[in-house]
Amino acid sequence: MTATLVIGPYSDSDRDALNAGFDPVLVGGPSEVAALDESTRAGIRAVAFKGHHPFGAAEMDLLPALGLVANYGVGYDAIDVDAANARGIKVTNTPDVLNDDVADIAVGMLLMQMREMEHASAWARSGEWKAKGEYRLNRKMSGGTVGIVGLGRIGREIANRLAAFKMDIHYYARSEKDTPGWTYHADPVALAGAVDTLVVALVGGKDTENFVSAEMIDALGPRGVIANISRGTTIDEAAMLDALETGRIAGAALDVFLGEPNIDPRFYALPNVVIQPHQGSGTVETRAAMGQLQRDNVAAFHAGAELLTPVN
Ligand code: NAP
Repeated sequence: MTATLVIGPYSDSDRDALNAGFDPVLVGGPSEVAALDESTRAGIRAVAFKGHHPFGAAEMDLLPALGLVANYGVGYDAIDVDAANARGIKVTNTPDVLNDDVADIAVGMLLMQMREMEHASAWARSGEWKAKGEYRLNRKMSGGTVGIVGLGRIGREIANRLAAFKMDIHYYARSEKDTPGWTYHADPVALAGAVDTLVVALVGGKDTENFVSAEMIDALGPRGVIANISRGTTIDEAAMLDALETGRIAGAALDVFLGEPNIDPRFYALPNVVIQPHQGSGTVETRAAMGQLQRDNVAAFHAGAELLTPVN
């Protein structure tokens, strides 16, 4: 009887590796767990989870022998950790291996937004460059002021990169960090008021819902650009859309949205928004490392060894 249940849309190579390592049962999402027969569910001790559909108490109760939910990804907001704790279930994630890629995307999106690279590329491709001449002047990124909202693993990598762009680094976290001359703000509204670019790198989940509030967005002001690589939930998206549409902020560069991939169509009408399809960690190299770390956690659990990257 198999002891591992694989939940989610895995790549062929990840699925092959999971099959080879664990001979698991595979389902496409949490909603399919209930359809497994009772004896299969009773034998499941570990879940390898991928995706953003909630995995909570109801799914855990369908798996009475469950001891581990190993998440593919550092953000585990889809998994109800309180419910896991109440049932003695361990949860793991895949931190650090994706920091560089997510930080790269954040910086790339900011450059795209400020240097209007998407529109400038269209200008060249459409023949307007040849017909009408130079593309219009845009905005300098180097040397600006940036506020990192959440100076964790990824936030710090973003700050390091933006420091190399000679930007003045400010940040919010729940406690002051040891940093090379960066300015700490305990008050996120004060942070937004002190900078003209905000990069959101918070954890997702209910504790940080709408953390970037209408008040913060207003404090950022009309030169303000917001980049978000965390989760759609961390920003008051309705307030951000209003501010973008009315010019109360200058623009946004977003890899994450509410209701992905069915994002609010108002975003598509905004030329000052760079849209990425939640692909922060989406390189071949990093996804391979994430898959390996997830499988290492599952293997450690089955072997009775210490988990590599537990979150509870
Ligand atoms: P991390 O090291 O845990 O850092 C998270 C930051 O969030 C820390 O600064 C932390 O503050 C802050 N934070 C946590 N709970 C908070 C709360 N209740 N109120 C205010 N601040 C809070 O996480 P990470 O590894 O950098 O990852 C951050 C997030 O990025 C992930 O959770 C995930 O959602 C997202 N992500 C997105 C992609 C993508 O493809 N776009 C890829 C990977 C990850 P303290 O420093 O005070 O603890």
